[in-house]
Amino acid sequence: MNIHEFQAKSLLRQFGVAVPQGEVANTPQAAAAVAEALARGGASGFVVKAQIHAGGRGKGGGVKLASSAAEVPRIAAEILGMTLVTPQTGPGGRLVRRVLVEAATPIDRELYLALTLDRGSEGFAIIASTEGGMDIEEVAARTPQAIHTQLVDPNLGLRPYQSRKLARALQLGAEQSQQFAALLGGLYRLFVERDASLIEINPLVLSGNGANAALLALDAKLGFDDNALFRQPQIAALRDAEEEDPRERRARESGLAYVGLDGNVGCMVNGAGLAMATLDMITACGGSPANFLDAGGTADRERVKQAFKLILQDEQVRAILINIFGGIVRCDLIAEGVTAAAAELGVGVPLVVRLQGAEARRGREILDRAGLPGLRSAETLRQAAELAVAAARGS
Ligand code: GDP
Ligand code: MN
Repeated sequence: MNIHEFQAKSLLRQFGVAVPQGEVANTPQAAAAVAEALARGGASGFVVKAQIHAGGRGKGGGVKLASSAAEVPRIAAEILGMTLVTPQTGPGGRLVRRVLVEAATPIDRELYLALTLDRGSEGFAIIASTEGGMDIEEVAARTPQAIHTQLVDPNLGLRPYQSRKLARALQLGAEQSQQFAALLGGLYRLFVERDASLIEINPLVLSGNGANAALLALDAKLGFDDNALFRQPQIAALRDAEEEDPRERRARESGLAYVGLDGNVGCMVNGAGLAMATLDMITACGGSPANFLDAGGTADRERVKQAFKLILQDEQVRAILINIFGGIVRCDLIAEGVTAAAAELGVGVPLVVRLQGAEARRGREILDRAGLPGLRSAETLRQAAELAVAAARGS
């Protein structure tokens, strides 16, 4: 689960990480009030930032500077209600419902700092670079030597020498290295105590010169482990369902593991590994999957129906491939679920069903007997994928 920048910064504050002063606003009037309060506190410049769950806002016109508090409501009015398109939103963009109004920070250097999980080492990775502010993916591709990584063993925790190594890689002076150690310690505690999966500070800025320079998190992207939200009520409460893919939101509500993709072959599979193999097979057969959907081990009639509904809500879907291995579930029960759901919902696109495992033969008999138009059964995964890809092409 992702959260907004203003929520992320409030969490950072709780963990002692320095962030610019500011407040969220959902009208130009509220934005003006925030700017006036910041001006009374001594701010002379301001920044107005679109709050959406996607990065690259600066490039899309979603981050604007204002040189006086009087300008802030006009800029906020421009950004609020706009459909912001960035390299991360897709062509449809995202509607901006809120802006974060902050006191502008004078920037001397823009750095990059991130904490994430590193499955390979069964630990955490801290990634830092002097090349902050821009696309870190591009930096990694063009100048990989500018990316510095420290792996942290969760049993040992973050060690002081690791902080010092990263501070040196970031070319920080003695005073800033101490600030950096405190800041990184706060981020590390936040990561562990709140079950985060990603903390990305881009840019982490150095503001001011010499020993007086301060390190601040100017931007913050935080992601959390969905499977830990049950024990993180404070984090779970930050969910903004309006920012989520509506297909994935419905899937979550009905307890199905679903990820929306861009293709046209809808997939219903039991088991995540089999679902991944199915996506690969569709691609290998020249097709393109519309979704990942793991209907789980207990794919009864009701779940099959929910799964159908989800797949069909995607208007791109031209054919559906159902791939079930009967291990925990029996294929004849699945077949009953499929025929009942298809009859009730009127599927309307070609359906290819591949059943293997427990009671597969009986399952296929049930499908054949149902005489549903557009339904074909297949024995192997390759056959099934070929049929579904051809059906999606309309041949
Ligand atoms: P993103 O484009 O979605 O990653 O949004 P950011 O929060 O990273 O802002 C984009 C860019 O706007 C930053 O890299 C900065 O260069 C600039 N920016 C944001 N806030 C300030 C600020 O307070 N002062 C100055 N000078 N620039 C800012
Ligand atoms: Mn950024």
